[in-house]
Formats: sequence, structure tokens, C-alpha cells
Amino acid sequence: MEGPMKDSETPKRQGARTRAVHAGIRRSGYGEVSEALFLTQGFVYDSAEQAEQRFLKAGDDEFVYARYGNPTVRMFEERIAALEGAEDGFATASGMAAVNGALMSMLKAGDHVVSSRALFGSCLYILEEVLTRFGVEVSFVDGTDLGAWRAAIRPGTRAVFLESIANPTLEVIDLPAVAELARGVGATVIVDNVFATPVFSRALEQGADVVVYSATKHIDGQGRALGGVILGTRDFVRKTVEPYLKHTGGAMSPFNAWVMLKGLETMDLRVRAQAETAQALAEALEGDPRLARVLYPGLPSHPQHAVAARLMERGGTVLSVDVAGGQAAAFRFLNALDVVTISNNLGDAKSIATHPATTTHQRLPDDQKAALGITPGLVRLSVGLEDPADLLADLRAGLAAV
Ligand SMILES: *Cc1c(COP(=O)(O)O)cnc(C)c1O
Repeated sequence: MEGPMKDSETPKRQGARTRAVHAGIRRSGYGEVSEALFLTQGFVYDSAEQAEQRFLKAGDDEFVYARYGNPTVRMFEERIAALEGAEDGFATASGMAAVNGALMSMLKAGDHVVSSRALFGSCLYILEEVLTRFGVEVSFVDGTDLGAWRAAIRPGTRAVFLESIANPTLEVIDLPAVAELARGVGATVIVDNVFATPVFSRALEQGADVVVYSATKHIDGQGRALGGVILGTRDFVRKTVEPYLKHTGGAMSPFNAWVMLKGLETMDLRVRAQAETAQALAEALEGDPRLARVLYPGLPSHPQHAVAARLMERGGTVLSVDVAGGQAAAFRFLNALDVVTISNNLGDAKSIATHPATTTHQRLPDDQKAALGITPGLVRLSVGLEDPADLLADLRAGLAAV
């Protein structure tokens, strides 16, 4: 048997699974094993002087009001930050509160932003409808076209926004290359990293300044609670993001933070199993004559397969299929599914099928849908934790009904 590790042998940074289970824990005087749920909006002070002091400047383990911070929420922030390799994080009520908070807290009238066009519908709404109302100029580019980024990013560009893997067409963006262009003009790179997942992506190492997650997806991973998080340098999180969010009210509830903390403990196992099944399903379905396309970053046929292989360990937990025969055929496929449920979350233990053109991306005009590859036959499949054989049989039954 080997003896205990000597100090010189201790790893500088613990492995991701260890961090996901232990990082950020704050034990109360009871010494509880599992993270405590501090379901309290406020905190009492020993004296008026202490209250005054805490409002002036709350220390590391001092809290004032749950809209500003809460011990359970703080545990979640520290754990996900440790996992991502970020200096700090701010947890939000939802993924959209995180996207909105990251952008609104740092931008002002007159600023210029460059964004990829293939975005989750609500992200597009913030960039296209909200920011522009406050005098921010936004240029949209095809995220897979490096020349387009080069042409759009200019001196004075304040921020670059992108989804590292686009929803639902699964285009993969060459983050290091875009980040280098942004760095050249001093722009902040904000990455919505939901599809890449905290398990497979190394966005901060690859040039992102700020990483945003919808915790609703893989972090919870069991379809229970909404949440989000903004990760970045301590300076950005505490001096730019925190003042904006603590006064505008996008805070995560302590209960949801507790759900997300427990979700983080099993995320690595879940996401790896889901991605393995997604890869197997994509391979099994590719070439089926009833499908015009099978889109999955882990398939060699994916247009950015090489970029995906370079940037991420695996292709993720989501694949998209384009059912030949358009919307009617896609609906027949969806309605024949039994194990896979029709819904619109992703990253869940339960496999979920979505028809983006009529649901998540319904708002887009037809020409924009076409430009983004959101065809009438496109179905997004979020692969869950069921037996792979049952999922394949279910998808084959769906195809038989087409
Ligand atoms: C779901 C999602 C969001 C929004 O997250 P919510 O938690 O639903 O607010 C943002 N970006 C991407 C890429 C998403 O998939």
C-alpha cells in the first residue's frame, strides 16, 4: 500500500470530479455532510454597528440579503467557478438572466457588439431588440466564418458574443480564433456555453473572458429548476456584474442553488453517459433515407467536426435530425415517439425531442429560419440517460411512422 501523498506530490489543482463534489462547501456549526439549504432572505446582525459595517462592505462569509448573496447560492457559485477554472461567479435566476446580466452590466450607449447570428431565440431577442433600444450597435455574423468576424470586429468593439455550439443547428465556433481577433481590439469575449457543457468545454482556457451557463440544462440535468451563472475574473464578476444584478433582482433562489449544487456532483457522470449515447445514436441514424441530415459535432460529416474535435472532448448531448418531407413528416416522427418525450428543455436525464421551427424559434421570420438552417423538418434531440437500445428502437419507430 502506498503511504499518504507528500506535499510535493499533491496535485496543484484537484480533478474535475473532486471539485464538483467538494469545492465551495461551507459547513455550519452542525458539521452537516450534505450542503445545507439556507432558505433565508435576510441575516441578523449583532449590533447596529455591525449592520452598518456589513452594508459598507460584506466580507467573504458575510451576507446581507439574498438578492445580493446567500450561503447556499455562494456554495454553488464557488463550486461551478472552481469547476470551470474561473476566479468567480454570480448565480442568476435563469440562463437568460445570466445572458442579460453579462451584457447589460458591461455595455452602454454607443458601444459596439459583434455576435454570431445562430443564437437561442431569447439571446437573439436581447441582442437584437433590447440592447439596440439603449443605443448599443450590434453586428451579426455567420459564426463559422472567420472572415466575417474579422470584418466585423473593429477598434472600439466592446464585446463579442457567441454560443460555442449553436442551438439547434449545432454549428461549432472556432473560439480561440475569434477570441484572438477580439483581443486585438480589447473586446470582451462572452460565451454562452450551454451546448458545449462545463464537462467537455474549456472555454476560459480557449480565450473566453466570460462564460455564461443556463444551469437549467446539464447542471440541474433532471428538469427541476431554473438557474444560470456568469463566470469570469473576480473584477468582472464583483465590480461589473454584481452591482447590476444585486440591484435589478436576477438572483438565484437558495432552493434552486441547492438543487444545482447537488446536480453538479453527478454532472460529469451524467453528461459523459449522455454524450456517449448521443454519439452512438448519431452514428446509427446517419444515412437513413428518411433523414435528409444528421447533425452532431461528433460525426466526421459535421461541417465543423475538426474544430469540435480540437476544442471539446466529445460532441455533446444534443443532436439534430432533418426529417425528409418537412414539417408534416417531422410531426409524424415526433408523435410516434414513446420513450423520447416532446418538450423543450435539454441536458435532462429524460430524452427530449423539440421541433425548433414551431416552438423555440417560432418567433423568427421564415427567411431567418432558412438562413440559420432551421428547416421545417428539423428535430432537436436532447439525449438522456435511458438505455441506448431503447432510445434507438424508439427513434426507429418514429422514423417508421414518417
Ligand atoms: C436554455 C438556454 C438559454 C436560456 O436558459 P434559461 O435557463 O431557460 O433561461 C440560453 N442559452 C442557451 C444556449 C440555452 O440553451
